[in-house]
Amino acid sequence: MRLNRLKTDLRTLITLLAVASIVITLANSLYASWRVQREVLIDNTLEANRVYATKLASTTEVFFDLARSQLSYSASILSEESGSESRLQDEVDRLRGQTHSFNSVVIADSRGWVRAISPESLMLKGMQLSSSAAKQALAERKSLISQPGLSTANNLLVFISRPIWSKSGGYLGFVGGSIYLKKKSVLDVLLGEQFYRDGSSLYVIDSENRLLYHQDRSLVGKTIDPLITRQQRKEASNGRLEVVMPDGKPGLAGYAVVPSTGWTIVSLKPTAATLLPLNSLLLQVLKNSVPFALLTVILALLLARRIAFPLWQLARKASRMDTKNVSHEINSIRSWYYESSQIKRAMLAGIALMQDKIGRLKSETQTDPMTGLLNRRGLYAVLDYFLSARQEFAVLALDIDRFKRVNDTFGHAVGDKVIKTVAEQLAKTARRSDIICRNGGEEFLMILPGADRDIALMIAERVREHIEQIRLEAVGHVTVSVGISFWAPDDEADMHQTFVQADDALYQAKNAGRNCVIVAQDAP
Ligand code: GH3
Ligand code: MG
Ligand code: MG
Repeated sequence: MRLNRLKTDLRTLITLLAVASIVITLANSLYASWRVQREVLIDNTLEANRVYATKLASTTEVFFDLARSQLSYSASILSEESGSESRLQDEVDRLRGQTHSFNSVVIADSRGWVRAISPESLMLKGMQLSSSAAKQALAERKSLISQPGLSTANNLLVFISRPIWSKSGGYLGFVGGSIYLKKKSVLDVLLGEQFYRDGSSLYVIDSENRLLYHQDRSLVGKTIDPLITRQQRKEASNGRLEVVMPDGKPGLAGYAVVPSTGWTIVSLKPTAATLLPLNSLLLQVLKNSVPFALLTVILALLLARRIAFPLWQLARKASRMDTKNVSHEINSIRSWYYESSQIKRAMLAGIALMQDKIGRLKSETQTDPMTGLLNRRGLYAVLDYFLSARQEFAVLALDIDRFKRVNDTFGHAVGDKVIKTVAEQLAKTARRSDIICRNGGEEFLMILPGADRDIALMIAERVREHIEQIRLEAVGHVTVSVGISFWAPDDEADMHQTFVQADDALYQAKNAGRNCVIVAQDAP
């Protein structure tokens, strides 16, 4: 029993199964939505960065076009100018002040001597330009956008220049505007600063991976590890890819190349910052699915109870199959599904079989096979019951007279037949409540519950007369002698004594000449 209690039951198992499958399903859907959301976030960010970089690249390109045409216009004016100093100064001031494209504007002669410069505060007028950009402009005598470099006044800048040709075709020098990289410039207007809050950043790099623009100005001018390789830039003028950021962490990049300068604009967002909303998204999914999951668990608990209940009831009955009324109790169990109803049926059939078997065993051990009457063992069972029920009764002890003779004359088989016939007749003449027992050989006992002396005597006489009248094949007639005694619960005498008395009375009947009835108390 203790061991049985330790075993888990069906209800617990079903509940565990249900809860486990709900948890697994929930985890699975969480994981699936995490995967999907993650991919969507990454994809969206990459695409947003690509689009943003492309937009900035085209804006930058437009700016350079404009700047060049402004310089072209100036160059065309200057080719006609005789070149009064104030006219030149007006022109550089106009170029710088009107458009705000340039941090500084300079007009130099064919040997690089500064003829006019704006702002004048640079104090370069009358000096020779020594920067590599100026040297390149003088050497190549064509429209140029320089590599970033230090200017004569020690500013890191890019320089956009245009040659000035005289009408006759002589080289007069150049007009050029510079954009400072480390100070506030038109690049700030173009590239903006509104983008950095969510961890995003913007890198403008030249073809040599030198940083031209970044919100951290201290990095400007430095060469960084290539975010986008030369090969990638060559393959597509704009694109998107996952990169390792300068700080070593993974990032999501969109890039676009500015055609006229070969610069690459990279818009970059750390992957971690991109995936930050993922947790709250997952929490949202969890919040939405938990009530439903809980409802399912409750439903599963109820269902588990309903499924397990009939089997649990049957199992409890199974341990008490031998008790009274168990069939009735099992029958009242509601077995509402196939397995439980089959088990119930099998149990009922098993009990019926067992009871039938026990019943048969009982009758087999308690009856006399030849006559079908009770044997001694059967009689004792009845007497036990009468004793416990305090049921008074009369005992008739019967013995066939001179039976030895029957055997001797007609043989044992005929003798058997006589015994059987007498038994049948006893059963016939007895009352329904009377008990008849073969006491061995050709002796019988009849127990007459509740019978007093008169009734017992009457029945005994009736039996005796009836037997006397029967005609038996070959044998003719037989007679019986009967001794009678009584038992009542208030008697001090025990039951055994009652039977001894009946036997004594029978003995007296034999002595009295047989075929008669003697009552024990009447004996002298
Ligand atoms: P009494 O009038 O004094 O009873 O004379 P009796 O011949 O009947 O004597 P007793 O009762 O002593 O003998 C009984 C005989 O019955 C003895 C036995 O051979 C015979 N007998 C006992 N059981 C059976 C049986 O089952 N079948 C047959 N055929 N004979 C039996
Ligand atoms: Mg006898
Ligand atoms: Mg006899």
